[in-house]
Formats: sequence, structure tokens, C-alpha cells
Amino acid sequence: MSTKIVIGVLCAVISVLIILLFFSVFTWKSSVPVVRMPDAPGASTIQYTPPPRPKFAFPNKEQLANIRAMSKKTIEKVMDGIYIANNYALGNVVMVETAHGLVIVDTTENAKSARQILAEFRKITGKPVKTIIYTHGHVDHIFGTPVFKEAGTQIIATRTTVEFLKREQGWMEPFLRRSRQIQSGSFDEDYALKIPIDVRYKGFTGETLVWPTVTFDKYYTFKQDDTVFELYETGGEAPGHLIIRLPQKKLVISGDLFYASFPNLSTPMLAPRSAEDWIAGLEKILNLDPDYLAPCHGLALRGRTEIRQRIGQYRDATKYIHDETIKAINAGKTVEEAVRTIRLPDQYARLPDLREGYGRVDWAVRGIYHCYTGWYDGRGAGLNPLPAAVFSRELIQLSGGVDKVLTRAIKAQKLGEHQLAVELADLVIKANPDEKTARIIKSYSLDYLGYLNQNLNMFGFYRSAAAMERKKAGYKP
Ligand SMILES: [Zn+2]
Repeated sequence: MSTKIVIGVLCAVISVLIILLFFSVFTWKSSVPVVRMPDAPGASTIQYTPPPRPKFAFPNKEQLANIRAMSKKTIEKVMDGIYIANNYALGNVVMVETAHGLVIVDTTENAKSARQILAEFRKITGKPVKTIIYTHGHVDHIFGTPVFKEAGTQIIATRTTVEFLKREQGWMEPFLRRSRQIQSGSFDEDYALKIPIDVRYKGFTGETLVWPTVTFDKYYTFKQDDTVFELYETGGEAPGHLIIRLPQKKLVISGDLFYASFPNLSTPMLAPRSAEDWIAGLEKILNLDPDYLAPCHGLALRGRTEIRQRIGQYRDATKYIHDETIKAINAGKTVEEAVRTIRLPDQYARLPDLREGYGRVDWAVRGIYHCYTGWYDGRGAGLNPLPAAVFSRELIQLSGGVDKVLTRAIKAQKLGEHQLAVELADLVIKANPDEKTARIIKSYSLDYLGYLNQNLNMFGFYRSAAAMERKKAGYKP
């Protein structure tokens, strides 16, 4: 036997011995921290009188007038052969007329709206629908398809959109249904304060999903009659999102990469959207340099200069928030520190295209952290935190009991410090889930938080959370 083999075998044996020794020494110690569960605090004895109902700030009179004006159903003629159906549903439908047929881009969230739109389109042309394109897989873009689809209609989407739909309409559907109900403000609605508008999430039950028949990655082009269509996968609003160029018409159909709000990069209960892809998608639109832009929410943009300016600003503002967030991540700031310091510069914040009516900058910052980093901030306490009940019971004991904490919460509520009121009440709920007074106090401050802001999603989240607390307390307002 050669020396090399002997040395090799010896090394292997020694390695195994070291590994065995390592495990024999270290594995018998548990890595679970010692947790002692303090006793639950006693029930509160305080009498609580709810505050007056908050004034309904969302929407205010001006917004209500805007909503009414914006909800006017319109068939917009962008140019010969290109039409946008706007405000029939949450999402637009774009119709492109070719020599002997139609291309339909997106189909809205339900058959009822789709039928109204098709009836309007039929006043313009009787040509058959040869192609349907899904810009992405969000519910407000896909569920009207059975109305538009004819025998032999091809349906085009990216392969990633099909994967997205398998997930969102398949194994993640119960969660997504619930989170959308919460976001719309209609969860446990019997327990919510009444409001003058209908925010109910309609659920999209009974709608039929029609699966794409043609899928692609990155880029796809086809000709219908003499009209050329170029499809570019961009991502952004959703994985697999695409935009469409019609080079002969100098038109880009931009899907959801542009609408009249700061982009919704992160909706709080869902997986964040890629800011990087979104920015690259806007850059793609600028590179395609269209004279017309047809978005899937809102009306068309016209003129090269106007499009370059507005898409350019939208891209710059999104990139600014992205880059500032990356700087904060690399500087070792926590997400809470970043949220408190990163703001849209005034030159962008004052633009109507970038107001925070739908997407919000602070939520975008959280989403970007979520995209690029893990859940642990590196500072020790968050690596293996105590169960919430343990920590809250300790704190309540230190504070002198439940009544003291809730008295402070009520005082904060009276002073308009609603977030403090919510967090103090929540401390008590965590310590003792049966504590009804804490839930009722919390619900009213949640209502105030919702009513005092003018972001649609924020309003919905608070309204649902308030209703959920009241339901658990068995208390109707
Ligand atoms: Zn949409």
C-alpha cells in the first residue's frame, strides 16, 4: 500500500472522529431559550365610553366628486382601430382592430362588465375575436374572458403568468381571498362602522378562469392580418407582467406599469413586487418611444413628449425610492429606521401621477427590504423572540396591571394618539385574548386611523381590523 493511500485513509478516519466528537459534545444541549409563562393578568374593571364616531374623511367631498367623474363609463378611441373601455370595471379592456379580426387585451374581473364592454365594441365592429392577451394574472384583468372568447380564439400570456395563476387561483386562493377582503375594508363587515360607499370585495366567485393557449418567455411577436404585435415580458406589477408594442401604430399598451398613483410596490399582506423589474419595465417603455400609451387603468396618454415626461418622472421617482432603500439596507439601518427617513422629493410628491392614493412610499420601502433581505435585523432580540403572551404579561405586571395600561390607552385615544392606543390595547389582548374592553378600545382607535387617512387600502385595512376586534369582543357598534 502506498503512503498516499495510508495518509488518505488516516485523514478520513480522523475527520469522522472530529465530526462525531463535535456532535457528542454539542448536540445534547438544547438551543431553545428558557421560557417561563407568567400568569394571565386579571380582567379589567374600567368603564369605557366609546368616543364619538370619527368624521368620515375618506373620501372627502372633493375625492367623492372625483370618484364620480372617474367612474364615468367611457369607450375611448385612441386612434383608428384602437379603443379603450374605461370604468366599466376595475380594469380596462383594450381592443385592437386588424383587417379581419380583433385582439382583446385584458378582460376585466367579471363576465357582467365584459358583456357591457363587448356590447359597446359591437357597435364599432362585428369582426371576430381572434386573440386575447393577458397583460398579467391579477383578477381584474382575466375573468371576463368567457364573454370575449370565440371558437378558435388564441389566448396569449407569459409562462410565468400561468405559474402565477396556478398559485393564486390554486393553493394560495383561500389566503388571497381573505387578504383581499381585509384590504377592501369589508371583512366581518357586520361589525364595522357604516360608510356611504360600497367597498365590499365581490369575491369573483362564479367567474371562470380561461387558461392561456399560447405561452412564452421574455419576448413573443405575431402578426394578425397585417398588424405586428411585439410582446415584452417585464414583471413589475405582477410576476410575468407584459407590455405590448404595435410598431406600425407607434402604440404601447403598458398593462399596470403606469397608473395615477405611486406604484403599489408592496401591498401589506401580499408578497412584494419587484421594484427592479418595474423600473426596467418603465425604461423599456421609454426605449420603445411610443406616440401613444394605452394603460390598463385610466385613459390613454398621447404625444411622444408627454409620454416621455410622465413615464420618465414615474421611473425616476420609483428608482429614487428603490435606490434610497438600498442605501439604507447597506448602511445597516433597520426597516423601521428607513421607513421614517425615506421620502419622495417634493418635485415628485406634488405630481398627480405620484400621489399616494393607491401605492404608498413607506409600504414600498418595506417591500424593497422584504425583496432583498431576510426577516432578522442582526440585532439579537429578534432572532428567537419570546411568545407575545410572555412579554406582554411581563410588561403589564411591571406597569401595575391591566387597568393602568388601558387607562393610558384611553387617554392616548382622547388625545388623538391612536397608534399608541392601539398598541397598548393590543398588549393587553396579547396577554389575555378574553379581554373584551381592550378589543373595543382598540377598535375605535383603528377606526380613527382609517378615517383620518386618504389612502384607499389603508382605510380598508383599518376598517377590517376594527371589525375583527369587535366581532371577537361580541360587540356591535
Ligand atoms: Zn390592475
